[in-house]
Amino acid sequence: MSNLKEQDKQYVANTYARFPVELVSGKGSEVFDKDGKRYIDMGTGIGVTAFGIADDEWKEAVTAQLSRLQHTSNLYYTEPCAALAELICNKTGMKKVFFCNSGAEANEGAIKTARKYAAEKKGEDYYTIVTLKNSFHGRTITTLAATGQDHYHELFQPLTPGFVHAPANDFEALKEIALNNKTAAIMMEMIQGEGGVIAMEADFVKKTAEFAKENDILLIIDEVQTGNGRTGELYAYMNYKIEPDIVSTAKGIGGGLPLGAIIFGEKTEFTLKAGEHGSTFGGNPVCCAGAMSILKRIDDKLLAEVKEKSKFIFDSFNGAKGVTGVSGMGLMVGVKTEKPAAEIVKKCIEKGVLCLTAKDKVRLLPALNIPMDVLKEAVEIIKNVCAESED
Ligand SMILES: *Cc1c(COP(=O)(O)O)cnc(C)c1O
Repeated sequence: MSNLKEQDKQYVANTYARFPVELVSGKGSEVFDKDGKRYIDMGTGIGVTAFGIADDEWKEAVTAQLSRLQHTSNLYYTEPCAALAELICNKTGMKKVFFCNSGAEANEGAIKTARKYAAEKKGEDYYTIVTLKNSFHGRTITTLAATGQDHYHELFQPLTPGFVHAPANDFEALKEIALNNKTAAIMMEMIQGEGGVIAMEADFVKKTAEFAKENDILLIIDEVQTGNGRTGELYAYMNYKIEPDIVSTAKGIGGGLPLGAIIFGEKTEFTLKAGEHGSTFGGNPVCCAGAMSILKRIDDKLLAEVKEKSKFIFDSFNGAKGVTGVSGMGLMVGVKTEKPAAEIVKKCIEKGVLCLTAKDKVRLLPALNIPMDVLKEAVEIIKNVCAESED
């Protein structure tokens, strides 16, 4: 470990504050470090390994495709890419999919689409995108501009112009901002993930969706973290019964391989034309084959299990000692604790549970298929850590 730590520090760009754990293998919701210590995985690599580590079905889909054909570029047709796009459209009622490699890249493409759509329909000065304060949309210069948190912006000026941030859950304020600018789109997460696992209020979302429709302002929902079964519906917007014009997603969709997607509705399915957007790795057949095996299994039965496990987590933490609140939806949960969240996460690692933080909360993003007994074991450990008095 100390050798690896030194090697990493010397040769890997120092952009991450890692925990002193070297993970080497895993199965399902259990991962093991170099010394064979077992951890229950309540973070899934930040909501990525949707069906856990080395899931059999996913592994088989990926390795079968890997041994046939690993990459072609988008100059040619491949079956996994088209089949996955069809599956996504059938499951959502949306019209077309563009594949890329990450959440930031999906959001970039969504923003490009909105700019082109509005320029053609309303004029080139209609390029403003309204996003929410406390949002997170990625790390590129444009998605940083979209991100409504000043501390991400400071060191990287000037950012891409054309973004304004409205307060979340304040429809009148958002409306005023959207009308006072030449607005192309409104973009938001249904549950702010990095912002602290904060679900948007139903009334705010509904009014925003209606307003956007009335004014032909595109509604972009960032489902990078909330998508692909995470909240108990296939996509989190479905909890709100709205119809977005563009959905961006990534994280869980590939089950652990890099894959992002921009999903276009009726208004935007033909906006981007040949040559106007692209991605060398986008729609990679191995990633798409893996994603097929994930999305195929996110059906009503699985979603009911997600909701059931969610209820168990909420019930366990609500009113628990050392816990001051529980937020989120489905298996995307924020636990507000009396002790600092970072301290809880550190203690949980010692006791064999991997969890995340989001702002001042402990964030839990377990695998969608985490076995109930493993989940119970993890929750018990986290609860005990929250309840422990200061030492
Ligand atoms: C993680 C995240 C992103 C960025 O995704 P990357 O794959 O890291 O580029 C964008 N939006 C939301 C809501 C996210 O949670």
